Amino acid sequence: MAKTVLVINSGSSSIKYQLVDVENGDALASGLVEKIGEPTDGFYTHKYNGEKHKFTEPIPDHETGLKRVLEFFDQFGPNLKEYGLAAIGHRVVAGGAVFPEPALVTEKTIHQVEDLATLAPLHNGPEAKGAEVMKKLMPDVPAGFVFDSSFFQQLPAVSYTYALNKEVAEKYQIRRYGAHGTSHEYVGSVVPSLLNKPAEGLKQIVLHIGNGASASAQIGGRPVETSMGLTPLEGLVMGSRTGDIDPAVVFHLIRNAGLNVDELDKLFNKQSGMTGLTGRGDMRDVEQLAENGDENAQLALDIYHHRIVGYVGNYWAQLGGLDAITFTAGVGENSAETRAAVIDKFAFAGVKLDAEKNAIRSDEPRVISAADSSVAVCVVPTNEELAIARKVIKISEEGDVYGNKVA
Ligand code: AMP
Repeated sequence: MAKTVLVINSGSSSIKYQLVDVENGDALASGLVEKIGEPTDGFYTHKYNGEKHKFTEPIPDHETGLKRVLEFFDQFGPNLKEYGLAAIGHRVVAGGAVFPEPALVTEKTIHQVEDLATLAPLHNGPEAKGAEVMKKLMPDVPAGFVFDSSFFQQLPAVSYTYALNKEVAEKYQIRRYGAHGTSHEYVGSVVPSLLNKPAEGLKQIVLHIGNGASASAQIGGRPVETSMGLTPLEGLVMGSRTGDIDPAVVFHLIRNAGLNVDELDKLFNKQSGMTGLTGRGDMRDVEQLAENGDENAQLALDIYHHRIVGYVGNYWAQLGGLDAITFTAGVGENSAETRAAVIDKFAFAGVKLDAEKNAIRSDEPRVISAADSSVAVCVVPTNEELAIARKVIKISEEGDVYGNKVA
């Protein structure tokens, strides 16, 4: 019988789920619950066996949504019992310094995840809620939290410490926590075998560029730098987030535009980045506009690439050498143009793409640099669900590092 994990990504108004076979990595079924708690009807999509089941109905809360999802598994398959459901995995954005490793879901860890909402106001509350509801609906199935920030708890102090007043930083736990850690760790772990090189000592940069975007520098699978900070706002230009910006812009807008904190949060997180520059948050649209001669879209793309190039140059120097640059996530896996725009800037240092390999579309990890490139360039499709599933199986079998064990 297969051994499967139901991975749940619970947001404020949506829930994504996937049933993962941990042995072969297959996604057996997946789905989406949208518009939870909104006055209009919500949407369900459940995908299994090449079929898509869609429903439109009111979804007042997470409990209603998740109950319906379990009904879909009963009604449309796969049957969770027959498919060996061994655990439930909950993705969490912010684990702060409290959770350097995954944790089993208990009443205490649910509260701890809730309390960490100060670090991820939009995410942690709904994530804790999702776990609480699933615990109630499936009390006998072990469940674990896997934190996007855990991998970056290994960052050295020199990269996680801001040059902010030490007392204030300590009192309010202000430091770089990073995000997308599960993806950076997973993608970084695939690269050594792809290059046929030992993992030990391998110096690499991983560019996770999707709707959210972040870069990491790793040596031997340990992170030494990352671009996201206290929250996922810092760093690269993103679909709707500014990335790096002078914090004085905040003072300026408070003083001159009279914006309050929620308006600023929305402006920086939801109305900026590619959306704010072009009106389009989807990179395919921006690339299309630029191709049609839209100069504003071209400038936005140039800004987007410019920021990535800056991070790669920075991290290359911080690493003191470089073996591989790897692209992942929606833009990194699919946009040959973005990869070329970034890598061509490093021609001066002997980094070269193989244009044909860069143009190939594939779901497989691959090397896309020329044979004589000074640094290998790779594309590795990320699989956060599989990484979460594996981690949750491990703690459900062995217990977590906080002393919790499955009864
Ligand atoms: P993710 O957040 O990893 O799911 O990435 C989503 C983003 O990937 C979308 O918003 C698109 O901007 C981008 N994307 C997907 N396919 C392509 C493509 N073929 N070319 C450029 N960007 C793409």
